Amino acid sequence: MTGRVATLEVDGLEVVFETRQGAVRAVRGVSFEVGAGERVGMVGESGSGKTAAALAVTGLLPPIARVAGRVRFQGRDVGALGSPERRALRGRHVGTIFQDPLSSLNPTLTVGRQITEGLRAHLRLDRAAARRRAVDLLRQVGIPAAERNFDEYPHRFSGGMRQRAMIAMALSCEPELVIADEPTTALDVTIQAQILELLVGLCDERDTALLLITHDLGVLAGVAQRILVMYGGLVVEEAPVDDLFYRSAHPYSQALLGAVARPDRPGRPRPIAGEPPSGLQPASGCVFAPRCPYAQAPCRSSSPVLAATARNGGHRCACHFTGELW
Ligand code: SF4
Repeated sequence: MTGRVATLEVDGLEVVFETRQGAVRAVRGVSFEVGAGERVGMVGESGSGKTAAALAVTGLLPPIARVAGRVRFQGRDVGALGSPERRALRGRHVGTIFQDPLSSLNPTLTVGRQITEGLRAHLRLDRAAARRRAVDLLRQVGIPAAERNFDEYPHRFSGGMRQRAMIAMALSCEPELVIADEPTTALDVTIQAQILELLVGLCDERDTALLLITHDLGVLAGVAQRILVMYGGLVVEEAPVDDLFYRSAHPYSQALLGAVARPDRPGRPRPIAGEPPSGLQPASGCVFAPRCPYAQAPCRSSSPVLAATARNGGHRCACHFTGELW
């Protein structure tokens, strides 16, 4: 945390999906904060619970999901809000960007119309003012010929342009928080860096907090100030970005780091051996034990809690042997 008032406080969040195979515990009691203007990265493999946690925060989970725990936005309990207030929260105060802009954008409406709808609904701008603001936003996100492209449909945009339009939409009402879930995963590597730079720059200019969710730890370097590592529906490590990259404490974080190509670490990235847990029948003990190279007998019988490491400074780790075995 940066010491500023938290924009988002998540406390004991649980998400369970009722499926034909049984109850899947996607998020198993996760607590974290995002400070005002802070950039927090949330990283983990597919199925770690990171997207379910983000969707629970924004109220966008499907009906088969059961959610428990508390989410506060700027001190207000989101669970106590009525439907209109929740819609206003999502459209006005929390902007969202997802991996596939084509499925997030409405193919039957022009890009400009989709931006102005939010502006008119949440900021009560008239048609002309909303158009001026939308065109200006399209310029800010680097859409060429913004005046003309305002009237284009999403399928006429390239993948990178669509994601730029999504950024414009997410920031259009000057939200206090943007949640971006794998915003660059579907893009070419060269475009990825441009889009991330753009997103971070625009959030910084506006003092907008950013929760950036990704499976790729490398994406968070130079972007996040603090990182939450998720595994099996739990936060297993939380640390300032430099601590996470250079002094990671949890064996899973170390495995994630080993899977990233880094100029300061020669050699090939190593994929993480084994499979992540399904969430259907979480085993007792440490959730990472079946894949952990350091697992000992106590790891299989009791679950480690997320606790401050010797470094402190906001560095927390959920491992029985933090700092002892490696
Ligand atoms: Fe590995 Fe045991 Fe630590 Fe879990 S508690 S990460 S199994 S050493």
